[in-house]
Amino acid sequence: MPAQISRPRFVKIAVPCPLYKMFDYRLPATFGDHTIQPGVRVRVPFGRQKLIGIVIEEVSTTDVPANKLKSISDVLDSHNLLGDDILKLLLWAARYYVHPLGDALQTALPVYLRSNDDATPSLNEHWRLTQPTTEETQQSLKRAPKQLRLYQLLQAAAKNGTESGLDADALNTRTENWRAPLKALLEKQLIESFVRPALLTPQNDSQQAPALNDEQIEAIKNIEAHRQQHAVHVVNGITGSGKTEVYLALCEAMLADGKQILVLVPEIGLTPQLTQRFLQRLNANVVVLHSAMNDKQRYAAWHAAANKQAQLVIGTRSSIFTPLPDLGLIIIDEEHDGSYKQQDGFRYNARDLAILRAKNKNIPIVLGSATPSLESLNNVNEQRYHAHFLRKRANKKPLPKIQLINLCSQKLYEGLADGLLAKIKQHLEQQGQVLLFINRRGFAPLLMCHDCGWTTNCQRCDAHMTFHKRRNQLHCHHCGSQRPAPENCDECGSDNILAIGAGTERIEHFLQERFPETQVSRIDRDSTRNKGALQDKLEKAHSGESGILVGTQMLAKGHDFPNITLVCVLDTDQALFSADFRAAEHLAQLITQVSGRAGRAEKPGEVLIQTHHPDHPLLQTLLHSGYPTFAKAALQERTAAGLPPIHHLVLLRCESVDASAAPTFLQQAADLAKQIELKDIDLFGPIPAPMERRAGRYRHQIMLQSKQRKNLHRLLNWWVPQLQQLPAARKVRWSIDVDPYDTF
Ligand code: ADP
Ligand code: ZN
Ligand code: ZN
Repeated sequence: MPAQISRPRFVKIAVPCPLYKMFDYRLPATFGDHTIQPGVRVRVPFGRQKLIGIVIEEVSTTDVPANKLKSISDVLDSHNLLGDDILKLLLWAARYYVHPLGDALQTALPVYLRSNDDATPSLNEHWRLTQPTTEETQQSLKRAPKQLRLYQLLQAAAKNGTESGLDADALNTRTENWRAPLKALLEKQLIESFVRPALLTPQNDSQQAPALNDEQIEAIKNIEAHRQQHAVHVVNGITGSGKTEVYLALCEAMLADGKQILVLVPEIGLTPQLTQRFLQRLNANVVVLHSAMNDKQRYAAWHAAANKQAQLVIGTRSSIFTPLPDLGLIIIDEEHDGSYKQQDGFRYNARDLAILRAKNKNIPIVLGSATPSLESLNNVNEQRYHAHFLRKRANKKPLPKIQLINLCSQKLYEGLADGLLAKIKQHLEQQGQVLLFINRRGFAPLLMCHDCGWTTNCQRCDAHMTFHKRRNQLHCHHCGSQRPAPENCDECGSDNILAIGAGTERIEHFLQERFPETQVSRIDRDSTRNKGALQDKLEKAHSGESGILVGTQMLAKGHDFPNITLVCVLDTDQALFSADFRAAEHLAQLITQVSGRAGRAEKPGEVLIQTHHPDHPLLQTLLHSGYPTFAKAALQERTAAGLPPIHHLVLLRCESVDASAAPTFLQQAADLAKQIELKDIDLFGPIPAPMERRAGRYRHQIMLQSKQRKNLHRLLNWWVPQLQQLPAARKVRWSIDVDPYDTF
């Protein structure tokens, strides 16, 4: 290109940093007169570092004085890797959740791309033998022992049925210095290199769909009738009513149209079983995306979706940002689940963003649940969403009977009532399997001195430390602190220490003693920490080897145990009187969901709920009229209290090491907000958080409440960017949470 004096060019860049603004940079003349696309990654000088930022737009003028203006160092991509729709979604989301744009974009980018220039690495290069091994080949390598060793490794991999060969990671774990012998073997054409995409390919043992029932057919027909346009469909089907079959049928139709599909599942719902079902039934390349994968694996999956090699993505929350150029349908399974809300950093709600993404793209979205969130039910009431009901269980078995067990003045064994134990015995004798839920890990929630009343409090939180007997340790479940369990009281030295209350570990222990013939299996975060442990436990539960399962809510979803005949919910009272405004909704969802786990196969099921408050209206409504009636009542209560979904909430949370810094900052923030007219907004606080001290920090908050999202955002857009300039800001950590999931 001939040298010429061209006008200077400026670009607005979102740089990953906690500031609520974009930064202007000069586009170097070496870039010529090519257009620079929004979404392209660039490397820019920022303070003393170089960071990877994202181009938002080119502009013709800048306010930055010429001597301050820096130049872009490198342009890393030729096109927007995220795709225009994702970029648009993120621009909206950063504004809506009032989060620094650079950081929001960074969150959405695969970790691999945040630090690597090259967006086309040789992903998943594998090596394998070119032909079955012969004695002759082995002989020919006798004098090159390193080559022979490598050759034999690849041969062993082929034998193990790993026909996909081995990649660099696999070779690194098996041997070292393999690059040179690899090259030699490649030259001799004894081995070859190939790229295995990160895809799970359709399985040969494909399964036939069952003959669908009328309700399923009706739902599919109604959704497909609008499949070229945007609509939100709530598939409200009781557990075991065949929602997944509805998803599969919709996917089939979309795949036939050449479309891509995104399926979002809750964090702990991404069971291999679900993936398996999609693979067995659909003729599609599938990728999964979840937090247990490493950065490179995630990038490979992301890449396959972006390049249309994968037709179906099954993933957890952050998969909402996966580029899918031919996206035709989004499915959100268990849409009521809390794990769709990111609880730190960029606090988005993946379900809500999915709805927006579907709207922008003019495609349908399906929200499936046995217990839809009050948000979704409200949208159905207001006719913004379409509801489809599956009221019958696919196996035609009736829903189990739910009974309350009144704990008042009953003799309890580690928190279990006599009547409950008798029922467990009875079900085991009839070859049934039993499932017990308690939302408390560990052996006991606290230890107490029987002589002076001293309790094991966390030094850093307003909370007790949980006793874990197996490891003989105390753990704080709020800050992670650990210490050996004391043999003597810290205060009076007595060794008369009691374990108060019961968690999963204690109940497992007790039931194993009580029913020695039956295998008791505990499924919670502690017992499934080791790789493969969860899978192993689920398999044993499935096969019936474990007769009693004790677990936290990890067990509530996604798992289909056909032999469960008795489900027990052990601790309901906490939720009935919780300060968390969603606690009642969660309890109702849990009870409804787990009830669906009982009596799925040949045997009828029973559900028992322990409580000290059998007359509580929530339990009564749920028992006698079911979840929909409960939801209606809960919605009215929320509305009366000015809570979501009719009203909207924003929380400004703040924490500080110094007890007074957080309330001081929040008072300054409140005073600032009151400088402008708070139209139809109620501002509460500063008030201490329900758990005021946590991990050594004092926590306080301000809550904003309004019926009008618009008004809240008008305030937020003006207010939040100024917060970091408040005098007290330097001594605190604060964060803003729009549509908070809880107020803790
Ligand atoms: P959900 O997702 O609502 O819990 P699933 O789709 O997993 O329900 O279905 C529960 C079980 O019933 C599965 O084993 C499924 O194969 C089976 N099933 C679903 N629909 C039918 C049907 N129409 N006829 C027979 N079995 C069905
Ligand atoms: Zn004591
Ligand atoms: Zn703690």
